Amino acid sequence: SGTLYVVATPIGNLQDISPRALAILRDVDLIAAEDTRHSARLLQHFGISTATTACHDHNERDKSQRLVERLLAGESIALISDAGTPLISDPGFHLVRQAREAGVQVCPVAGPCALIAALSAAGLPSDRFAFEGFLPAKSKGRRDRLQALANESRTWLIYEAPHRLLECLEDMLSALGPERQVVLARELSKTFETIKGAPVAELLEWVRADSDQQRGECVLLVEGAPVPDSEDALSPEVLRTLEILLEELP
Ligand code: SAM
Repeated sequence: SGTLYVVATPIGNLQDISPRALAILRDVDLIAAEDTRHSARLLQHFGISTATTACHDHNERDKSQRLVERLLAGESIALISDAGTPLISDPGFHLVRQAREAGVQVCPVAGPCALIAALSAAGLPSDRFAFEGFLPAKSKGRRDRLQALANESRTWLIYEAPHRLLECLEDMLSALGPERQVVLARELSKTFETIKGAPVAELLEWVRADSDQQRGECVLLVEGAPVPDSEDALSPEVLRTLEILLEELP
């Protein structure tokens, strides 16, 4: 059968596309794109005339079956999304799963991804981290999720829409307190790229005071909650000894 290539495309700067990604987009029989009109601009820019077909959140389940049939018939297909790496807060999961279940080879063509770009430049611990995608759009759901994340000790990241940025920072302030370090990574790889880190109360005021910071695409990164000092915690042996001593007390 043919191969399904999962191809990362730029998150802003077109020069971020890799030569390998371009060669594959040129050579495959078909490009499955989240939005064919959006991707037409990218493909046109690089002089690529491969046929495209739409594969987005609303048709992905049905579409995947037909695409897998074509893969099994020997065609090769590249999956792309509007920006960055497919499947990362973008469509593609059903297609990849169905292709793998059918025994089709799935080949990642790695490249831009907003969360990894943000993490690589934010200056927060990056040895372990958690990606939380988009928070629920409604405020109750968002607050509950933030509350559940308040004690997360790893650095965690979310994608946020610009028109919800202020509300989101306000909810972070209530859930995490004013001191928690948060980094706003905006417009990565584009002209107005900004990476600003500050305690959340300060960051909120900074964004509030400058409406330019409330536009464009952004990633929010949050420093994990401090882990209780291990010297404060008693070891199981010490606890057991204390229990025995307690039993002996009059
Ligand atoms: N698949 C993409 C990736 O690999 O990053 C993410 C797609 S998701 C639908 C779009 C979100 O990614 C935006 O709302 C924003 O949070 C983030 N994003 C995409 N491009 C960005 C950029 N240039 N700068 C900052 N954030 C970006």
